[in-house]
Amino acid sequence: MLTLAIQKKGRLHDSTMSLLKDCGIRLSNGGKDGLIADADNFPLRVLYLRDDDIPECINDGAADIGIVGENVIREKKKDLKIIKKLGFARCRLSIAVPKNMSISKPEELNGLSIATSYPGILKDYLDSNSIDASIYEISGSVEISPGIGLADAIFDIVSSGSTLLSNGLKEVITVMTSEAVLTGKDLETEKQKILDQLIFRIKAVREAERNKYILLNAPKNKLDEITAIIPGMKSPSVIPLAREGWCSVHSVISEDDFWENIEQLKKTGAEGILVIPIEKMVR
Ligand code: ATP
Ligand code: MG
Repeated sequence: MLTLAIQKKGRLHDSTMSLLKDCGIRLSNGGKDGLIADADNFPLRVLYLRDDDIPECINDGAADIGIVGENVIREKKKDLKIIKKLGFARCRLSIAVPKNMSISKPEELNGLSIATSYPGILKDYLDSNSIDASIYEISGSVEISPGIGLADAIFDIVSSGSTLLSNGLKEVITVMTSEAVLTGKDLETEKQKILDQLIFRIKAVREAERNKYILLNAPKNKLDEITAIIPGMKSPSVIPLAREGWCSVHSVISEDDFWENIEQLKKTGAEGILVIPIEKMVR
């Protein structure tokens, strides 16, 4: 049995639960209530915790692995491995100052006080840039600190920047970027085997998210051109159509190249293009 610590409630929770579900893992109580749930079809136990407690919990062995933001791992300074980046809860941790303050270089932070819920990451940044600024630790509502005279600047999580804007602040220095990761320490062989199975499933789910299945009709004489645009996992499947001189081409395309590929395909004379989500993908 492998024990996984995840966030009980908050920004990581829903994406973590859907990842487990997409990996085919069914939790005994649906994961909604209680603090512990066992999967009934995979050797996994899930602990629901505050995200701040997850690194410590893995460090002292109460959990084997966890899903948490990289920022929390860095803040808690535990010696944990990043096993797999998971692509959700993407954000950056930045220093922001009131709109009318001009800061263009890190040195200009000297002498300021900076409010944050991440004093560890901020201290490392200040020390490594030899900046002498004071850190004011606050556990929430960091953005209001300059406005109410608690600090000159803030260091906090930013995603769209709209919260900063609505509090009259602007982002001046990005200290780190973060996303949710699967993290843990070295495991004994049996647990490592279960973890390998879990990673295999996560990879299949993540690959599927990044790719789409595409079907189209094309004149046979354009097949080489089309194959060059959508080579697929090995090569596209080509199925003859009842209509002379035409075929149906099936392949896989990456989400990132999607619109560019569609435009190129249209130019070759492809028509009837269908694009379908993929549930799992194993290369
Ligand atoms: P907990 O109650 O578990 O301690 P929390 O309030 O500390 O939760 P959340 O706000 O739920 O934390 O955020 C969890 C993680 O999600 C953060 O550590 C960060 O990695 C990421 N995150 C936070 N805010 C954002 C955002 N605005 N956009 C994207 N990711 C974010
Ligand atoms: Mg927290």
